[in-house]
Amino acid sequence: MFKTVRGMRDLLPVDAERMRHVEQVSRELSKLYGYEEIITPVLETYDLLAAKTSEEIRERMYTFKDLGGRKVAMRPEFTASVARLVASKLRNEPKPMRLFSAGSLYRYDEPQYGRFREFWQANYELFGSSRPEADAEILTLTNDLLTKLGLKNFRFKVGHTGILKGILDQEGLDEAKQDSVRQLLDKKLWEDALTVAREAGVSDNCLAVLESLFETRSENAFKVLENVKDTVQDYGSAVAAVENLWKILELTRDSGAQLDVIVEAGFARGLEYYTGIIFESYIPGLDIALGGGGRYDKLIQLFGGEPIPAVGVAQGIDRIVLALQKQKHPPKTLKERSVVVISVKDESMAKALELSAMLRSSGLPVEVAVMGRSISRAMTDANRRGVAYAVIVGPKELEEKKVVLKDMNKGEQRTIPISSLTEEILTDSK
Ligand code: AMP
Repeated sequence: MFKTVRGMRDLLPVDAERMRHVEQVSRELSKLYGYEEIITPVLETYDLLAAKTSEEIRERMYTFKDLGGRKVAMRPEFTASVARLVASKLRNEPKPMRLFSAGSLYRYDEPQYGRFREFWQANYELFGSSRPEADAEILTLTNDLLTKLGLKNFRFKVGHTGILKGILDQEGLDEAKQDSVRQLLDKKLWEDALTVAREAGVSDNCLAVLESLFETRSENAFKVLENVKDTVQDYGSAVAAVENLWKILELTRDSGAQLDVIVEAGFARGLEYYTGIIFESYIPGLDIALGGGGRYDKLIQLFGGEPIPAVGVAQGIDRIVLALQKQKHPPKTLKERSVVVISVKDESMAKALELSAMLRSSGLPVEVAVMGRSISRAMTDANRRGVAYAVIVGPKELEEKKVVLKDMNKGEQRTIPISSLTEEILTDSK
């Protein structure tokens, strides 16, 4: 027997439908916010994908030589591909430019709960604006998506890369050193991050500032930002970063978006390219991020384009499905609303077909019993396949413009007028 490759999954109908539902809602939302979908290849040149991702992701890429001897890799994220397009084919498009992509990504991560080697993201990127309203839009959009999907009590962990960068730049740390500090912070290894900074020769004042920052996290966003501003007062660009974050959160709050935010001054994300706000979304009881994003104003330039500011977010579709299951809100699958229409006699078959068309036109999934089985065998079959409702169409009931509706889960059946059939099923299956 063949098996799937370790870390790869088959998504059977119920799981596939849940994934597609989240993807679909993400896509609808992209349209509401004016993000246009692009589809880029799963396979890209290794050089593109390796150029500006984190060391950790770089090491975990699926990389190989194709038959033409080209070094290629399967995309571990969308941003490099989107940046390639924005720096080339989309170079002359008017700004702002809002782009959406959804699809599968590949990382040789250690498989565990919520961590797969093939996973799906819905990705939103806004190019051309460095203003806080663009950052606020990405936050609000993420809030809308999770709300639309029915998630409750989710929170945003928020930080700003400029705080740490402002301090470490002023202390003279090079990019590579700063990156190792960030990688350690991303793994919540505060002590190790401090050790790297100390060994890189930062001042005692800086160590004290960093230590205090790493301990600073609070739900009272504005209060904590005030404190942070105080702590970093000797570092001009760190102060500017705090002010930028303040502005974004203030705009979001004043627009009426109800965002549950925790500010973490020592928050870092693995990807190297962030330059401004960074954030991740979580639900209580699930210690893995459902999505993450931030601002990356230098990325397009690194891919050979003009300098174009950008902010974006990647929603982890697989993890959102897990979160919905955890909160017991998985959306109704089509199966849970599905109907089988069974004709009792040949003479009622045309009417059965007509009623099937009527139910489908209201969005209900309908199968017609086409095997010529007896009612009881057709019902047994419907039961076995998990169909939710049976509509039995017989000449006797038809005379009174009625049919029999059976709820297959409860085992109850009633004779009801055809005129209320659609409404009955739609209401019941909500
Ligand atoms: P990143 O691209 O690392 O910023 O991740 C963005 C989001 O993608 C995360 O918040 C997760 O929801 C999802 N994600 C990243 N890696 C994995 C993985 N190995 N398995 C499942 N989801 C993932």
